[in-house]
Amino acid sequence: MDVAAYAKLLPDITPSNKPFWDGCAAGELRLQQCSDCGRHRFPDAPICPQCLSGSASWAVVSGKGTVWSWCTMHQKYFAAFADEVPYRLVYVRLAEGPLVISTLADESAEPHIDQPVRAVFRPSPGGRVVLQFSTDAANVS
Ligand SMILES: [Zn+2]
Repeated sequence: MDVAAYAKLLPDITPSNKPFWDGCAAGELRLQQCSDCGRHRFPDAPICPQCLSGSASWAVVSGKGTVWSWCTMHQKYFAAFADEVPYRLVYVRLAEGPLVISTLADESAEPHIDQPVRAVFRPSPGGRVVLQFSTDAANVS
């Protein structure tokens, strides 16, 4: 695994997204929540897409969601993932509303639409803790 190549695929940590990454490091899924309409959003943004308010705070959310869509990546598009193909990409509808794209932590799992999943946090080869989702029944309850 080329650690430097993997690290280049992760977004820079900025003042705007730092609470999300701090949450990952702490094992918590944190989302921005609009202070006016209460809607959670992902990714972070300066303006609420629902009501256009510029006021928001960060909230720890459940990490629970369901598979909205998924696919299996077989192509080695990115050197950082060359050793990991095939791997599952999942698009998860969080219980709080937002859609989040990530990878599936369970390498042998066969996901299906509307399957319950739960956020898990794993160190990437570059050392940063990243969000993944698990279909493991023990983690989903
Ligand atoms: Zn709002």
